[in-house]
Amino acid sequence: NKQIVYAQQPAPAIDPRLSGGTFAVKQSAIEEPIPADQVLVRVHYLSLDPAMRQWLTAKRSYIAPVELGDVMRSNAIAQIVGVGSSLKSEFKLGEWLVAGTGWQEYALLSGKAAKAQRVVVPEGCTPTDAMSVLGMTGLTAYFGLLDVGKVQKGDTVVVSGAAGATGMVAGQIAKIKGAKRVVGLAGSPDKCRFLTEELGFDTAINYKDKDWRKQLKAACPEYINVYFDNVGGEILDACLSLAAPFSRFAICGHISQYSAAQPEGPRSIMMLIGQRITMRGFIVFDYAKQYPEALKELGQWLVEGKIKRKDHIIKGGLEACPQGLVDLYAGANTGKMMVEVAPF
Ligand code: NDP
Repeated sequence: NKQIVYAQQPAPAIDPRLSGGTFAVKQSAIEEPIPADQVLVRVHYLSLDPAMRQWLTAKRSYIAPVELGDVMRSNAIAQIVGVGSSLKSEFKLGEWLVAGTGWQEYALLSGKAAKAQRVVVPEGCTPTDAMSVLGMTGLTAYFGLLDVGKVQKGDTVVVSGAAGATGMVAGQIAKIKGAKRVVGLAGSPDKCRFLTEELGFDTAINYKDKDWRKQLKAACPEYINVYFDNVGGEILDACLSLAAPFSRFAICGHISQYSAAQPEGPRSIMMLIGQRITMRGFIVFDYAKQYPEALKELGQWLVEGKIKRKDHIIKGGLEACPQGLVDLYAGANTGKMMVEVAPF
């Protein structure tokens, strides 16, 4: 079983080399026979997530860090290829799961974990939707925008990281819920075109343009009611300075700061007082009990064509993961980034 393990602390950026870098390739034997209370899965598509940088070093976070020497943590779309003796009545060979397998070709999962992660994709959706719109990133957009952002009809909504897996869904949900203006920030002209021409954002701004702050101000003439923050840094600062009274700032992620030796907070923080802003961070896992209803609604929107999506699939197998992760931070993806380990 080929695996990619965490070999060396990033300093501070991830070094994608497979030898002497942040990660290393390892071979290990698969336990035989399969332990009675576990299932064996074959990994097909691995998820690459911005949070991975945090998992390598964050000491006090929502999840324990990955330890040196451990298989790198990751979700995957995986298929059951073996069932332990006490689980034969519960699982069939060939069933699909989205599970925390880590960066490896095969993984053993407890029966409990496997049961919680069965893939149910409505007809008309693609199998990879299970790890995108109908997976963690779609759910993050859903709860972040609706529960934390409390989007209302007529709102001006700004989404950063808008052409990424989470942002693309957040912006479209805002439209579905009747936002008056949905403004997306992304890092290239192609991404901006994708947002306005394919996803129906009202305005898209390339934050690498010199005058992006001016463009943002012009796009929000009635200020910002909801800001869905995927990036932190300068963009969060600009949005704070344009906040409407009683606006809601849903703090989902701060990718611009994840690899920084000294992460920086926004200068315009005092706007919180004058504009009575509610700024709240959230973690999607806190909504686990509500996933089934959310997935029903997200699935319906997908089938009806109200939510469109793109996947960014990296071929090249397991070894492509470290470089893929570096490319994720550099903005190589439009839509959900995954690595194909074995095609469907
Ligand atoms: P994305 O698909 O959005 O990929 C990351 C994108 O971030 C890149 O494509 C890049 O696009 C953009 N980016 C990278 N660096 C910067 C920068 N310095 N400034 C602005 N944009 C940058 O990833 P996800 O959808 O998986 O994650 C999006 C955010 O949501 C992350 O911050 C992540 O940590 C967070 N998250 C939070 C969860 C929660 O429960 N709170 C759960 C899941 C994700 P570009 O070309 O536009 O720069």
